[in-house]
Amino acid sequence: MWKLKKQLQSLAADEIGSMKKDPGGTTSVALVYPNTYKVGMSNLAVHSLYKIFNDHPNFSCERAFLPEKKDWVEHERTDTPILTVETQKQISEFDIVAFTISFENDLLNVVPILKLCKIPLKPQDRGPDHPSIIAGGAAVTLNPKPMSGIANACILGEFEAYDPEGLLRGGTSAASDSSKVSPGKAPENNTSQESLTSLVTPPRCNDLDLFPTQTVIHTPNTEFGHMHLIEVTRGCSRGCLFCAVPGIYGSFRMRSYEAIIKMIDEGFEYRNKFGLVGADILAHPRFTDIAEYILERNGTFSLSSVRVDRIDSDTAKLFKRAGMKSMSLGIEAATDGLRAKLGKKFTNERCMEAVSVLAAEGMTNIRLYFMTGLPGETDEDIEAIAAFAEETLETIRKNAPKTQRSSSVECTATPFVPKPNTQFADAEFAGTKRINEIQKKLKQLIGKKKGIKLSFDSAKQAETEYKLAHADNL
Ligand code: SF4
Repeated sequence: MWKLKKQLQSLAADEIGSMKKDPGGTTSVALVYPNTYKVGMSNLAVHSLYKIFNDHPNFSCERAFLPEKKDWVEHERTDTPILTVETQKQISEFDIVAFTISFENDLLNVVPILKLCKIPLKPQDRGPDHPSIIAGGAAVTLNPKPMSGIANACILGEFEAYDPEGLLRGGTSAASDSSKVSPGKAPENNTSQESLTSLVTPPRCNDLDLFPTQTVIHTPNTEFGHMHLIEVTRGCSRGCLFCAVPGIYGSFRMRSYEAIIKMIDEGFEYRNKFGLVGADILAHPRFTDIAEYILERNGTFSLSSVRVDRIDSDTAKLFKRAGMKSMSLGIEAATDGLRAKLGKKFTNERCMEAVSVLAAEGMTNIRLYFMTGLPGETDEDIEAIAAFAEETLETIRKNAPKTQRSSSVECTATPFVPKPNTQFADAEFAGTKRINEIQKKLKQLIGKKKGIKLSFDSAKQAETEYKLAHADNL
């Protein structure tokens, strides 16, 4: 146990911004992200929830993560439960264990974590000496059923929209007129937090400015450790038929220019590179002003995602000034026909226009993201992926500045996973056999083309994701 504690102490020592709040008189919360520290600390939900709980006078919160594989073996060997980063306390000693679960496959880590910590899995088997368990996050909002047999309460929607104390009072401040969805049951015999209840409607926060969602703890030990992350927008109003974003986060909302500038000023105290987060950031009417503000202060930025049809010569010039050399584009399908069936409203011609202006400003490494195994997909649609990648490479080479020699296309084919609460919710998963065939075909078509790199997400993992997204229980 000593070695594992030491590792956590070393992670904590590298952090700026973590809090060790005296739990005396408060409800103590172990905020658990069921994946590793490196992955979890890249997730703004962890930062945001940590701050919300610790800013509240009646709560104190510490974080815990799934140990790395080699450390998990050590945990099992030494019978060491999961410990928090801040004080290396066992999560079973907290009043509440709060799981925040963004991705379906992380659900598989919940049961092993609870078993390792000797916390009974079923609410009715937990007594006054056990913590209550709550679960929230995008994966739980999409399908709360896998956690409903484990959690005392599944919190759907956005946590900011709840009054945290409502969790203990047995209610919520959020409006709740929508239909109830697979609640976790508050067990009658659970006297440790007996009034914990099932919060079952997916409310959303009306005023994002009230909750500055940004990096709270800076650490080099995570993927985006060199950046200060800021959520600029939330949700999306485009409604692509396959996409879970509108169902989870609702329609497009944005923070005010002033609120974003305040977060940027705070971020400059720690980092001069900003990760601007949101599904449609370029839709913010003050995006250019925000970008200029960062650049004028000698900072740089990158964007979590960029819509193809928002890229023009002006935005490409801004990206260049921010030092960007590469760009990721969600193409989804390589033919206009299949893309239209997905509800995506841009054409291949528009994609190449975007690639041209990006290349002209020095972004000569383009990452293309496609989905495979889509409903209505034909062999021609798969072959078109190879043709699209080649055309992209040619377009980059034709438009890149003469001084810029390197050019490349990275092509990622992700198996399509139908998600609940989308128009394609009832579509079948294509199956690992079909996905593997598609991947084999793509390898034949573009596997050895110079300048084009091909990668796939695993068919097996996609199948697991599909099963969990539609599962009734874990
Ligand atoms: S795919 Fe992108 S543009 Fe379409 S609904 Fe989802 S987030 Fe919005």
